[in-house]
Amino acid sequence: MGKGKVIVDADWCKSCGYCLMVCPKGVLGVSGDVNRFGYRYVSPLKPEECIGCGLCATMCPDIAIEVYKED
Ligand code: SF4
Ligand code: SF4
Repeated sequence: MGKGKVIVDADWCKSCGYCLMVCPKGVLGVSGDVNRFGYRYVSPLKPEECIGCGLCATMCPDIAIEVYKED
């Protein structure tokens, strides 16, 4: 499986945690900072582990995540 690149738009994240539950590699984690709406947004804390499966983006109800797959 190739590598992936995951990008989270902090201002769209409502900290529901769905992406954290589905990521098979534990890439994502809750940031220590809050976004402009007061939510502790999710960030890729271990981006090098991302395999580009896209599960996090599929699960996110707020369309806050983009995933790119590298061959
Ligand atoms: S694309 Fe897959 S491996 Fe990468 S952060 Fe999302 S769920 Fe985790
Ligand atoms: S699923 Fe979306 S809104 Fe929920 S914590 Fe993850 S990035 Fe934030």
